[in-house]
Amino acid sequence: MIAHTAEPAQLFVESLTGAGYRRHHPRSLGADDGPLSGDLRREGGSVALQWGVHTGRLGALPEAVPLTARRTLSAAWVGPRLPQDVLGDVFEALWACGLDRDAVVCRLADRGREGDPVRAALARLGIPQAGEDPDAGAPPDTSHRRHGTPGVLLSLDCELGPACSPACTPDCLCGRYLHLGDGRFTRPARSTGLPVFEFLAAEDAVSCGAAGLADPFDLPPLRGLLEAVGARLPELLTLPAPGQALRLVVDHTRAVALLLAAGFGPGPRGPARATRRLLRRMAGTMALAGAPVAGLADLVALAGGAHGFPAVSVAARYLVERETAAFDRVVAAGHRRFLCCLARRPTPDELAVELARLRSERGVPLALTLNWCRQHGISVPLSLIAAADARDV
Ligand SMILES: [Zn+2]
Repeated sequence: MIAHTAEPAQLFVESLTGAGYRRHHPRSLGADDGPLSGDLRREGGSVALQWGVHTGRLGALPEAVPLTARRTLSAAWVGPRLPQDVLGDVFEALWACGLDRDAVVCRLADRGREGDPVRAALARLGIPQAGEDPDAGAPPDTSHRRHGTPGVLLSLDCELGPACSPACTPDCLCGRYLHLGDGRFTRPARSTGLPVFEFLAAEDAVSCGAAGLADPFDLPPLRGLLEAVGARLPELLTLPAPGQALRLVVDHTRAVALLLAAGFGPGPRGPARATRRLLRRMAGTMALAGAPVAGLADLVALAGGAHGFPAVSVAARYLVERETAAFDRVVAAGHRRFLCCLARRPTPDELAVELARLRSERGVPLALTLNWCRQHGISVPLSLIAAADARDV
């Protein structure tokens, strides 16, 4: 593999600007806002790097640690041009990132024979095709922008390891394939009368593919942060799933550092609410491990510095400290309420209702209240809490 000194995202942009694409400056950050490849009314190519914070999956069960803050690489071409030429630009940019030409496969989803020119273009470019992608009908990153009629959709994957069986395809869950990104050829949009090609990929996926890694937490800034945070908060390593707790804290500190750098201190609405949720989830995990919540602002500054975000201002640091102090008070008050409830000798159903309310009304993380239950030798089935939660809505 060629050793690159610049990071893949930068190489992607340089390759396309070298081919005459316009560089779009990132828009201001908005939580749960999709990336944008630029103004799609002007004919020609455009390329952009855009950070985004996505908190939509934070509450999903079973709990995993997807990356909350991600940078998207996007490229677009507006106007009539051969699919082979448009795709050629994007693939050149991906090869410039260090991706192995023999490891990338493409899946197509199209209606009827509309995809034939694209299939032919891929064959001429030497990109293997791995059948239809059933999910490409709605790639999550592009669904919010449908210019004209949805046309031909492409899904790119990178092969990381050997096949688990002769039937192993990019749909297989064995971990052989890493999803890189999605492209879309659309028919002429009504507003401009021009066809559009858009391509979107997550920077971490491209970097992992280029380095032959399956896990974004093995990439340099995140790997270093895992080690640094693990050394500062050894308490996290005492939790039942230490790796997961550490990842959650590292992931959330990075997202909070990004939100603070964009001017979103913790608050009740919009992106500010995302900052608050992330801080509380982090503080909850730290409290669960018995780690001091007071050092959270330092961790955020550390993550921001590792990623080259603007330094956390004195005012932002104050907001984080105030927020974590407020969380400490919420937890202390919640604990008192929990003990009062226990003193009433509740039935399992009543206790489940109390835990659900402590979570939804008081903001005490469920993991923390379940831990209090364990400390009193009580176990409450999650199904009871979920049912109580559903009744309360
Ligand atoms: Zn497989």
